[in-house]
Amino acid sequence: MKRRQFVQAAGLGVAAAALAKPAIAQSAPEVKWRLTSSFPKSLDTIYGAAETLSKAVAEATDNKFQIQVFAGGEIVPGLQAADAVTNGTVEMCHTAPYYYFGKDPTFAFATAVPFGLNSRQQNAWFYHGGGLDLINEFFKPYNFISLPGGNTGTQMGGWFRKEIKTIEDFKGLKMRIGGLAGKVLAKLGAVPQQIAGGDIYPALEKGTIDAAEWVGPYDDEKLGFNKVAPFYYYPGWWEGGAALHFFINNAKWAELPKAYQSILTSAAAQANVDMQAKYDARNPAAVKRLVQTGGAQLRPFSPEIMEACYKAATELYAEISATNENFKKMHDAYMAFRNDEYLWFQIGEYTYDNFMIRQRAKG
Ligand code: CA
Repeated sequence: MKRRQFVQAAGLGVAAAALAKPAIAQSAPEVKWRLTSSFPKSLDTIYGAAETLSKAVAEATDNKFQIQVFAGGEIVPGLQAADAVTNGTVEMCHTAPYYYFGKDPTFAFATAVPFGLNSRQQNAWFYHGGGLDLINEFFKPYNFISLPGGNTGTQMGGWFRKEIKTIEDFKGLKMRIGGLAGKVLAKLGAVPQQIAGGDIYPALEKGTIDAAEWVGPYDDEKLGFNKVAPFYYYPGWWEGGAALHFFINNAKWAELPKAYQSILTSAAAQANVDMQAKYDARNPAAVKRLVQTGGAQLRPFSPEIMEACYKAATELYAEISATNENFKKMHDAYMAFRNDEYLWFQIGEYTYDNFMIRQRAKG
């Protein structure tokens, strides 16, 4: 290189370096956000996902972008988390979209619908099946965008004071169960009840209700349902893979530097994987304790019951689709995806799991 060219190149280099420093500083401003969770701290797996996200964001930005997590009730009640994001009270929340079923039952597809996707399939739909795009299009009028933020895996079917042997046993059964699942069971004659987590145990103990569903062994054990309703049914066909989400206010999202948007997106994905991993790691020991020392008696829902509930769910979807265009659009896309997923899961996943489960049972 001739000397003159070198001097020019070096000069450019110096200029670029001088520019680079302030450019980086400008792109990493101090940002402080508040996140309201729908959950109490005692639900460490679900609540913990927001802390996982907050920690990951702080670490990746050298503490420049801080997201303070508040438990349900600290800023707004748990079931008003989405509204707090819509109106900008907080920048973001962590919640279960199906809590907002009353605004529009279409919300349920972002969490779980009866006989819907399992946890793996739910993520496949969100990230690579067009699901998250559909969900965010639906969320536009609510003034937030969503990032998936955790999954419980297939839940349990709940705790029953008496055995449920036939569909007839659902007639008049008062069960704590919400949303679309409650509507499905109502078609079979059950009486669904909406009861907050902390109030379920006394209601079951007194016999005000006959049954209650919550989450799965790890969370259910903490609430002690086994002591008052020993029959522990499975599977929770209304939550094959219940997904939690982070909702972020549109204007607050738009104000973030691109780098922070990217970090927040990655942190949500990390929280999403981490919650399912925690549940899968902790549920085996919890179910052993419940059965071996807690008096829980495991019972599968019979094929007859499963078929009747499936039929009732299918009827319910047709009824809602007839009057709700949002629901129909989301439902049709979701169910087409579900059918293809089970085509694939039947081949590799099911065959493998089924074989391995039999090997374990042999000892
Ligand atoms: Ca549940």
